[in-house]
Amino acid sequence: MTDQLGLEPAEPKPAISQLSAPSLATWLEARGEPAYRLHQIAGGIHRSQTRSFDDLRELPGGLRAALERAFRFSSIERSHVLTADGGLTAKAVHELADGQRVESVLMRYPATRRSAARTTICISSQAGCAVGCPFCATGQAGFGRQLTPAEIVDQVLHWHRPPGTSGVGEPRGHYNVVFMGMGEPLNNADRVFEATRLLNDPARLGIGARHITISTSGVVPGIDRMLDELPQVNLAVSLHAATDALRSELVPINRRWPIGAVVDAARRFASASGRRVSFEYVMIDGLNDTPEQAAQLARLTAGWMSHVNLIPLNPTPGSRWSGSPRTVIERFARALRDGRVPVTIRDTRGREIEAACGQLHAQLAGRPLPGRHDATSGVAQVTVA
Ligand code: SAH
Ligand code: SF4
Repeated sequence: MTDQLGLEPAEPKPAISQLSAPSLATWLEARGEPAYRLHQIAGGIHRSQTRSFDDLRELPGGLRAALERAFRFSSIERSHVLTADGGLTAKAVHELADGQRVESVLMRYPATRRSAARTTICISSQAGCAVGCPFCATGQAGFGRQLTPAEIVDQVLHWHRPPGTSGVGEPRGHYNVVFMGMGEPLNNADRVFEATRLLNDPARLGIGARHITISTSGVVPGIDRMLDELPQVNLAVSLHAATDALRSELVPINRRWPIGAVVDAARRFASASGRRVSFEYVMIDGLNDTPEQAAQLARLTAGWMSHVNLIPLNPTPGSRWSGSPRTVIERFARALRDGRVPVTIRDTRGREIEAACGQLHAQLAGRPLPGRHDATSGVAQVTVA
């Protein structure tokens, strides 16, 4: 792409969230800065009130200006935020330097008698997705490009630094991060793993590996790599069907790595890591919600450290399918429980803000992000419910 003078646009400056501690140390040393500045910068960047390099008031003005010249404070240029469920769910469409857009979602679960309050942040790993699942808005839109580690981490930082006007508020306590937004994380494994290490770093956000989940459509070599490199991170596998004929239709990557290979990889992960693997199963009316599918699914998942999560389909516009009725989902869940498989039914959050993977992005495609954008945080705010 060239600008109006025919010049190549400059590469964007590196985003600070991706910079390793040694690289930043080298940069500081070259400027003759003392070593303790490294900790001041890392601490300041990850304070939830920090919105720009200028907010790092513990640094001398010259250093703040130098940081501004050398780095981008965020790899996200601007965000459009919608809230729903009385502020418990919020979704952002983020615009990146080259105009690509990705989505992230914040879900807050207030404390109940049985569990403490928790917050889950759902992030994207790619702009678009090449897997092409026909029920998924991201899959239907096709592949854009891989996200960089900074673009992944900055989605979490977006919610860590609540925009003043959003009413979302600061995520309380520990939060969970799930790679269940746009994209297939294990088709971008190097950058997703690097982003996971950055999120995990105690000098940065310090999100425990056990609070991070990678969801995959079944990239078998990626699952094995995850076991080698990040065995403490949770694995979720999007199964959606228990027979190869049906799964190849719903999750086309099944033609490359069929159910047997995916379930074997998941079992290897569970037994070597000692961690329970979740299977995601989107319930589609009259298609994959039959007693035969339930019986076959129980055969695949019973007797080892697995768990099934049933998700009512959130139909995409023009979808030929609809979600299974509640009674059918409950009958399916009972069949699994009778087969001794732990099962949960996921609540659907934020339907009115198109919260399923890629749906809001699809609705806004080709249009500028709506709303006025706050000049410093780059956030536009619209409240839906
Ligand atoms: N690509 C990865 C992670 C992103 S998708 C994967 O497929 O696992 C995250 C989850 O959202 C997947 O389980 C996916 O199947 C599910 N999903 C996608 N579209 C959906 C829809 N329209 N309704 C309900 N769940 C959907
Ligand atoms: Fe890609 Fe996951 Fe959507 Fe399938 S469900 S198209 S793998 S993002």
